[in-house]
Amino acid sequence: MPSSYNLQPMKNLISLFHDVSLQKLNTFGIAAQATHFLPVVELAQLTAIRNDLSLTKLPRLILGGGSNLVLSDQIDALVLQMCLQGKKMLSEDTEFYYVQAAAGENWHDFVMWTLHQGWSGLENLSLIPGTIGAAPVQNIGAYGVEIQDVFHQLEAFDFETGEVVVMDKAACSFAYRDSVFKQHLRDRMVILNVTFALPKLWQAKLAYADVAKWLEQAKILQPDAKDVSDAIIAIRQAKLPDPRVIGNVGSFFKNPVVSALQRYSLLERYPGLVSYLQTDGKFKLAAGWLIEQAGWKGRNLGAAGVYEKQALVLVNRGNATGAEVRALAQQIRADVLSKFGVELDIEPNFF
Ligand code: FAD
Ligand code: NAP
Repeated sequence: MPSSYNLQPMKNLISLFHDVSLQKLNTFGIAAQATHFLPVVELAQLTAIRNDLSLTKLPRLILGGGSNLVLSDQIDALVLQMCLQGKKMLSEDTEFYYVQAAAGENWHDFVMWTLHQGWSGLENLSLIPGTIGAAPVQNIGAYGVEIQDVFHQLEAFDFETGEVVVMDKAACSFAYRDSVFKQHLRDRMVILNVTFALPKLWQAKLAYADVAKWLEQAKILQPDAKDVSDAIIAIRQAKLPDPRVIGNVGSFFKNPVVSALQRYSLLERYPGLVSYLQTDGKFKLAAGWLIEQAGWKGRNLGAAGVYEKQALVLVNRGNATGAEVRALAQQIRADVLSKFGVELDIEPNFF
């Protein structure tokens, strides 16, 4: 469905920057250089780019907070940094508050703002780095909640047709750390804003042991959404490297899902195997545990390393290149495959 955006092109809106360093714009801290760079502050810029033949020919990288990207040293592309701002409550009905935020808004600040307004539902997703616009791309998830659980719709600029389209949940094909934007619509659709349906009838989601334990230790028996958020912020700060201090992109691999039979035969050989039953009868294995058992926790390859507190996170030990990060990831994958017979899929996006 087309939306009400004004799509008139404005030529003066596309004054590009050239040979721009992206080192401070990606949380791994890779010293990448972009040939063409444009901060996008309004929709008309996207239309103007689409109407410029020389620019439409260039490969495109849509950049949010750079917290799920592994960059090459040289990015011969047009980098569009999403800076669209704004957030508001659109409407409410008996069940939900419908709250919208623009693509360039910071995700965690938005979560904090909703909690401050008294709207619950995003608390388990506290402290995830990045922007609103990137959140649907990998259907961000943590502590038993994914964005698809609270998603209503989004608006995106379609570089192929030049139109702004409204996409509902079905159109996004959300899956585990995946969506249509990571697949065939990658770099074609620019997400402009996202609307969330935040439930009026709220129930805490406390299935993850760390969260329940933290609340128990804090003697909080009936947590509200702010308590859950506080717990998750504290747990994450203790466990995950702060990208401002150690470059990283969070979990580097998805947790693999295996059949009940494969899990059984692995359990016979490795009684400590960490696994979680899925609704379809398969089992999700903790990729971090597999990597640790393969001996990679705390090890380095060149300037890329495996975080000592959580083996699922690859880190920049100083001046790591994209090639070094790829090489480390490939070695880990190969070792886990040969030891456990399990393939690890990479989570972040390479460019
Ligand atoms: P970027 O890294 O800039 O981009 C990611 C992808 O989205 C790219 O392919 C980019 O082209 C595309 N993209 C960005 N903006 C748009 C747009 N407006 N329209 C279309 N495409 C776009 N992820 C989780 O799911 N759960 C976690 O718990 C989690 N924890 C993390 C913890 C740490 C310490 C770090 C560093 C990362 C973590 N991540 C987590 C990964 C990351 O934060 C998320 O994937 C986040 O949504 C990425 O946002 P970003 O703005 O930085 O996206
Ligand atoms: P954890 O709590 O040590 O658990 C290890 C893994 O087991 C997690 O990856 C999680 O899978 C799974 N798990 C744990 N409890 C579960 C339960 N009750 N039901 C189903 N699965 C369960 O993990 P962690 O590394 O500290 O991370 C905590 C949460 O933050 C996880 O949800 C994780 O995905 C998220 N996180 C994501 C990123 C990222 O970049 N994607 C980075 C940091 C943290 P899931 O990953 O499927 O939830």
